[in-house]
Amino acid sequence: AKSLEDGIFTKGQLQRFGPIHMSPCAGVLNYGQGVFEGMKAYRKADGSILLFRPEENGLRMRMGAERMCMPAPTVEQFVDAVKQTVLANKRWIPPPGKGSLYIRPMLLGTGSVLGLAPASEYTFLIFVSPVGNYFKEGLAPLDLIIETEIHRAIPGGTGGVKAIGNYSPVLKAQSIAKDKGYSDILYLDSAHKKYVEEVSSCNIFVVKHNIISTPTVSGTILPGITRKSIIEIARRQGFQVEERLISVEELLVADEVFCTGTAVVVSPVGSITYLEKRIKYGNGVGIVSQQLYSALTSLQMGLTEDTMGWTVVLD
Ligand code: PMP
Repeated sequence: AKSLEDGIFTKGQLQRFGPIHMSPCAGVLNYGQGVFEGMKAYRKADGSILLFRPEENGLRMRMGAERMCMPAPTVEQFVDAVKQTVLANKRWIPPPGKGSLYIRPMLLGTGSVLGLAPASEYTFLIFVSPVGNYFKEGLAPLDLIIETEIHRAIPGGTGGVKAIGNYSPVLKAQSIAKDKGYSDILYLDSAHKKYVEEVSSCNIFVVKHNIISTPTVSGTILPGITRKSIIEIARRQGFQVEERLISVEELLVADEVFCTGTAVVVSPVGSITYLEKRIKYGNGVGIVSQQLYSALTSLQMGLTEDTMGWTVVLD
């Protein structure tokens, strides 16, 4: 845990996982003043540990902190703290191919505040947990449902950063969808209820005639690091990739649809339900999704040479 003193983060320390202490008046508890990140560390066959573009998470946390009126660690401090935490928890990283260590850095307003205002003190903390592979056996297509009433983000809100409060508006829609057997929800823009935005915790891509498109990152879509990486990998592989507005109609006639995110990596979408109608995509696992999934996972797990300079190796 690190707390703020006169604009400087005091040196942190490693401690056992457990409850953290804060005032009931803490800014994060009363006004949701907090941002977080999600990352993964993989173990390679030679025992070394791989982090994927950690500086991008550090940068995104800084953008979020700016939006939420919080001081943030520098990218260097962020990456250094992530490295130290991962190394101290080395024994929890699953063996190669068996999963990864999920890393959750958080920046919270932990100082007391009664009236609506930014907190006076902040805590930067990181916790980790081993996680299995998202797909146990091969790629399993997701079944999404398009939500038309509930929105996860509105223009001018905090949807473009990873604020903790972004996830509470969708808990209700999410649990209803899960109860009905859907894997996740796809959200539309709140102004027109027409343009595709993103899924609860991943970005969306459509493929039509071998052209890959994804919604432009605006204030209501999280700029995913997996999204950014997939755009670069796909372009390198010779695909035309477009960032633009994508209407629901266009999505429904796509050849392939897939999602990207730290948790799901690249997940093909097998079906989308919109206004009670279910649209299926081919046999579920599109060829482009499969190809990009393989390219990204082999890079993240250190199975192919990293010519992009994206992986950070810890010994
Ligand atoms: N959108 C939302 C709302 C998310 O929570 C996440 C997960 N961080 C993503 C997209 C994907 O981002 P990333 O690829 O950086 O994990």
